[in-house]
Amino acid sequence: MSFRNKVVLVTGASSGIGASTAVAFAAEGARVAIVGRNEKKLAITAGKCEQKGSKSLIIAADVTKDEDVKRILEDTINHFGKLDILVNNAGIAPNASILAPETMETFDATMSTNLRSVVYLTHLAAPYLVESKGNIVNVSSVAGLAIVTNNRSAYAASKAGLDHFTRCVAFELAAKGVRVNTVNPGPVRTDIMEADGITDEQRDAMLAGARVPLGRVGEPEEIADVILFLASDKARSVTGSSYVSDNGMVMSVHTKMSLVNK
Ligand code: NDP
Repeated sequence: MSFRNKVVLVTGASSGIGASTAVAFAAEGARVAIVGRNEKKLAITAGKCEQKGSKSLIIAADVTKDEDVKRILEDTINHFGKLDILVNNAGIAPNASILAPETMETFDATMSTNLRSVVYLTHLAAPYLVESKGNIVNVSSVAGLAIVTNNRSAYAASKAGLDHFTRCVAFELAAKGVRVNTVNPGPVRTDIMEADGITDEQRDAMLAGARVPLGRVGEPEEIADVILFLASDKARSVTGSSYVSDNGMVMSVHTKMSLVNK
């Protein structure tokens, strides 16, 4: 899967799945624009890309701010001259009960980060992707599919919305030769729960308790592998798909239901 001379834009590349994805693209020869708010962490990702032989473009930006989203696209095109692949990965997963007083603040922040920013970035990137016959990979979640999560209804709604937005845009852009897909990870070992004050030890204990048939937790590099596959020519017939990488979590939900139905 060589991405030599391809230009890839990855949001949320300062950490976790996005950082691993940027490095994996760099290792395959891509030129990568990496986006996040934390410049120190972006510099670490850039260093890892450089070790793979690719000098990346750091764009410190907040995807919830329209002026920042515009700048993300402008900087990428000004620097690289084109765009082949957009990976909309930046996301938050706040822990908040529907009974909590801050319900609407949580909902707005989650939708703004996980869905609205994707809509705007897709709108701005689409003309360039039409030109390059490129593609988009959106990082969704099993929470947008069959998995119901406690105290994360805004997160689940944002990811379900992202999945259907993806299908609609995939349909619309298919005639123009642009593919659009999601990867839907199950639990992955990253810092996403850090914002809720959850320590690495607490996170690992929670992940160990997740019911996954393969009995293991995902690693960011494994999700990056799926993203690279979806972005590659090997997936040239794949569009409008939600590609699950969850160690069997969604399957186990369906299996339990079919047992009940017997
Ligand atoms: P991390 O917390 O490790 O990474 C999240 C990334 O999103 C960071 O780089 C962060 O950058 C960026 N980000 C968040 N808000 C903004 C913002 N307003 N503007 C710009 N960047 C932002 O989490 P993951 O790697 O786990 O999450 C990546 C994606 O994977 C998310 O969409 C998440 O929903 C999805 N996912 C994760 C799962 C998991 O179990 N970890 C499971 C299923 C899906 P910075 O802080 O520098 O702004």
